[in-house]
Amino acid sequence: DRIVSPAATREEDAIEASIRPKRLDEYLGQAPVREQMQIYIEAAKQRGEALDHVLIFGPPGLGKTTLSHVIANELGVNLRQTSGPVIEKAGDLAALLTNLQPHDVLFIDEIHRLSPVVEEVLYPAMEDYQIDIMIGEGPAARSIKLDLPPFTLIGATTRAGLLTAPLRDRFGIVQRLEFYSAEELTRIVRRSAQILGINCDAEGAGEIARRSRGTPRIANRLLRRVRDYAQVKASGAITREVADAAMKMLKVDPEGFDDLDRRLLTTIIDAFDGGPVGVESLAAALSEERGTLEDVIEPYLIQQGYLVRTARGRMATHKAYRHMGFKPKAGATG
Ligand code: ADP
Repeated sequence: DRIVSPAATREEDAIEASIRPKRLDEYLGQAPVREQMQIYIEAAKQRGEALDHVLIFGPPGLGKTTLSHVIANELGVNLRQTSGPVIEKAGDLAALLTNLQPHDVLFIDEIHRLSPVVEEVLYPAMEDYQIDIMIGEGPAARSIKLDLPPFTLIGATTRAGLLTAPLRDRFGIVQRLEFYSAEELTRIVRRSAQILGINCDAEGAGEIARRSRGTPRIANRLLRRVRDYAQVKASGAITREVADAAMKMLKVDPEGFDDLDRRLLTTIIDAFDGGPVGVESLAAALSEERGTLEDVIEPYLIQQGYLVRTARGRMATHKAYRHMGFKPKAGATG
C-alpha cells in the first residue's frame, strides 16, 4: 500500500481514535469552516433545535469524519455512522432514522453512493422529518407516514459534483475542506506526537508536514513511520535529519510525492508528450482505476500546480517538467 495514500487502513483506525480531535478547538486548520460551524452550533443550541443538515466535501483524509464527530460532540448529541454503499434498502435507512434521539446526528459517509431508491426516502426525512414507507406487497400494499425526531444529517463526499442536485439542495450548510498548509500540518503533527509520547522537535515535525500532501491522515501516518525509523536507526528523537533520512527510505520525495505520483507525471510528459491526455487513457497507462486517479492522486497535484485539468484532458505544467528533471516543452503552462 502507498505510504502517502490518504485512505485509512484498518490497522490505523485504533491509533487514529486516540489522536482524532474531539472538540472544535482541537480541530486545527480549516479556520473558515471552524468559525462558521461554531456559530451555527451555538445558535442551534440556543434555540433548542436540531442543527441544519451539513454537507462536507473534500479529498480523503482531510477530516470529514473527524469534523462530523466534533459537531455531534459540541452539540452534545449522539452520532450514528453509516455510509452510502452500506444502506442497501429503503428499510435500512428507515430503521436508522426511526432509532434516532431528538437532535442526534446521522453521519453518512460517501453519500454520493446512495441508491436512488434510498435517496428518495431521504428527501422528506430531511425536509419534514417524515418518511413514507411501504407496507406489504401487491394490491394490498399501502404507504404509511412516520414522524421522525428532528435530526441532523451530515453527509460526506469527495466532490460536491458527485451529488444529485435535489440531494445537494437539501443541505442548509455546505462546507468544503481545503488541503492544509505545512504550518497547520506541523501543528497537527506536534499535537499527535505529544499524545502518542513521541519526541519530535519543531523542525522534524515541519519536515513531516511538508511531505504530507496537505493531508492530516498522511501526516499522522508518516509520523508513526518516522518514529519507527528514529527508534531503530537513531536515538529515538525525531529531528529534521532523522525525518529526512526516514523519508528517503520510504521513497517520499520533498514534495510528498511517491512512485505513483512520479509515474503519473512522467507518463504524461513522456508517453503523452505533456498532454492533454484523457483520464481514461491515463488510468489505463498507469493500470490504476479512474476513480483513484480523480479522487486520490490528482487533487493534490492540481492544487500544487503540477497538473492542470482542461476540457481536452490532463496536462503537465512547467513545474512538473522541472520537478521530474525534464526540459519544459514549449507551450506547457505554469
Ligand atoms: P476523512 O473523513 O476526510 O477521510 P478523517 O476525518 O478520517 O478524514 O481524518 C483523518 C485523520 O486525520 C483523523 O483521524 C484525525 O486524526 C486527523 N485529522 C483530520 N482533520 C484534522 C484536524 N482538523 N486537526 C487535527 N487532526 C485532524
